[in-house]
Amino acid sequence: MEMSDRLSAFVAVLMTAFACTVTAAAPTRCSGTDVFVAGADDTDVAEACRAAAEARGVLQAIGLELPWGVAIRLVERAGDDGLGVGERARYETGSHAIVLRGYATTARAMPPGLAEDSAAAGRAVWRSYVVHELAHAAIHLSCVSTCPRRAVHEYVAAVAQYSSLPADLRADLVGRFGDVAPWGSEAEISDTYYAVDPERFAVKSYLHYRQPQAGPEFVRRLVHGGDR
Ligand SMILES: [Zn+2]
Repeated sequence: MEMSDRLSAFVAVLMTAFACTVTAAAPTRCSGTDVFVAGADDTDVAEACRAAAEARGVLQAIGLELPWGVAIRLVERAGDDGLGVGERARYETGSHAIVLRGYATTARAMPPGLAEDSAAAGRAVWRSYVVHELAHAAIHLSCVSTCPRRAVHEYVAAVAQYSSLPADLRADLVGRFGDVAPWGSEAEISDTYYAVDPERFAVKSYLHYRQPQAGPEFVRRLVHGGDR
C-alpha cells in the first residue's frame, strides 16, 4: 500500500507523537543491510530481517535494489503508528518507513488452512508482505523525476511479493483464485481495479509478469517510463 506525500507527512507527525508512547524497543539493523526493524516480538524482528535478505535477490531480478535507510515498525493494534483497522501494512513515502502488523495478528487474517496448518507457510507469507512493502520503498528510491502511478507500484510490489514465496506455496496461493487470468494489456492495470480487489490485482500482476512478453524488461519500462 502507498499513501500520498501530503497525507503521509501528516501521518508522520502523528507517528512521532505515537512513537514516544507506543514504540519502546530500539530498532535492530538487519545484517548486511541498511534496513532497521523495531518490534516487541524478537521472532518477528528476526523474520523481518530474513525477509529483507530475501528481498535483495527478488528486487535485483526485476531491476531494483534493496532500499536503504528504511525503518520497519511492527505493530499489533489498529491505530498503532497510524495503521488503520484491517490494514495489513503500509509504506510511507515521506518518512521512508514501513508499518506492518506483527505475525500473530496477520496470521489470523490469512487465507484459511494456511497459517493454522503450517507455521512455516504462514511465516513465508508474512515475509512476502514485508518484501511487498520493501518493493514500494525501492521504487521510490529509484524513480528519478517522475514516480509511477499507484497501479504500477502495486504491480511491481505484487511481483516481488509472489516471487519471494517458495514455489509450492505460491502455486497454492495462486490456485486459490481459480479462474484468474493475467492482465490482457498494460491499460488494464488500473488504480480502480486495485482499489476494488487488491488481492486479485496482485495475482493478475504476478501471472502477467511471468509471461514471456513481460518480465523484468516490462517492469523496467513501467517504473522508469516517466524518466525518459
Ligand atoms: Zn502495496
